[in-house]
Amino acid sequence: MAGLSAAARARELGAAPVVFEKGTRPGGSMLLSSCVIWRFRDWGDFRVECPTGDEPLQRVVWEQLDDGIAWLESLGAPVVVHETGNPRTVGKRFDPRGLTDTLVRAAGEVRLGETADDVTILATGGFQGHGDLVAEHVRPAAPLRLRANSWSAGDGLRLGLERGAELSAGMDEFYGRNMPDADYREDDFVPLAQLYGRFARVYNEQGEEFFEGEVSWSENDLVQATARQPGARAWYVLDDAALEQRVRDRKVADMVELARTRVDPSELPFPTPAGARVAVRVKPGITHTIGGLRIDERARVVGAAGLLAAGADAGGISTGGYASGLAAALVFGRIAAETALNRD
Ligand SMILES: Cc1cc2nc3c(=O)[nH]c(=O)nc-3n(C[C@H](O)[C@H](O)[C@H](O)COP(=O)(O)OP(=O)(O)OC[C@H]3O[C@@H](n4cnc5c(N)ncnc54)[C@H](O)[C@@H]3O)c2cc1C
Repeated sequence: MAGLSAAARARELGAAPVVFEKGTRPGGSMLLSSCVIWRFRDWGDFRVECPTGDEPLQRVVWEQLDDGIAWLESLGAPVVVHETGNPRTVGKRFDPRGLTDTLVRAAGEVRLGETADDVTILATGGFQGHGDLVAEHVRPAAPLRLRANSWSAGDGLRLGLERGAELSAGMDEFYGRNMPDADYREDDFVPLAQLYGRFARVYNEQGEEFFEGEVSWSENDLVQATARQPGARAWYVLDDAALEQRVRDRKVADMVELARTRVDPSELPFPTPAGARVAVRVKPGITHTIGGLRIDERARVVGAAGLLAAGADAGGISTGGYASGLAAALVFGRIAAETALNRD
């Protein structure tokens, strides 16, 4: 998202950018996403939801996202729904294929299967695809499955550090979803998400209810807590009432039905909780890292003169919680292009 947005903006400003795309197709994780590009409705909520994030960077995303979304629409990106369906947030759901095609057209030259070390803007999408880097920084109790494109493996982080970059806060944080603890494919990333932890009783393998307090609406706090449990896994145990609940337009029972790791509660590795009807073994699928290179409000990498970064390569924006990764990528991708062309 960030790289294509930067190139499209640079081209609009009269430059002739080249996008080096390591993958065999453009679009990165954006193409795999639900493609809801959003911000918190109220500025104060952003601070409450992501309290340790870099406030000036958050302010930039919050103030410039609406312009960014209007710009995408002006380029012809197809909107599926003109709202997020979440009263706390505002934004739009785009068609991921249509958005990718639109940005590729606007970006101009996109070289598939190519990388480059001497670049102006880093936008490689984070380091979730590199198991060793995840182990070093995020430190889950066991390896996590990847719920993202496989090419975002910390190349931007490496290149930035080689040029003296500073790291942001939140290097141990990530955004993800608890998924059935079994292998899955790219087209399972969205439908298989087990997004009903708030209605379940949640245990670790030892039968301990490890999560204290209320699970947040995004459930990203529960997902990250699960990563710290033995084996980086948890059991969601549901009773009849929980199965009847709905999350957005989906019934909890239908999400459970899709999980191959659902078992009868009598098969749990600890005494069966009262009233349990079904249990699902889950493990976090890591979607993107939250920490990364430290940037300023003009997308300049702090400590690395002349280098710019955007998207998940730029860390510390949604630290302490969860905010739209597409929004940050769009806003700072555009800003990076403007900075590179001295239009700030
Ligand atoms: C299933 C799923 C659902 C999601 N739903 C949402 C949602 O609804 N809303 C939301 O805000 N976010 C969502 N996200 C997250 C969102 O997709 C990311 O936050 C966003 O794509 C990050 O943008 P980016 O530009 O940093 O990374 P990407 O969009 O992944 O782009 C990074 C690109 O860099 C390429 N690359 C990697 N290394 C190199 C290299 N060395 N040289 C050249 N190219 C390289 C990759 O191949 C990739 O194409 C979702 C993600 C997934 C997987």
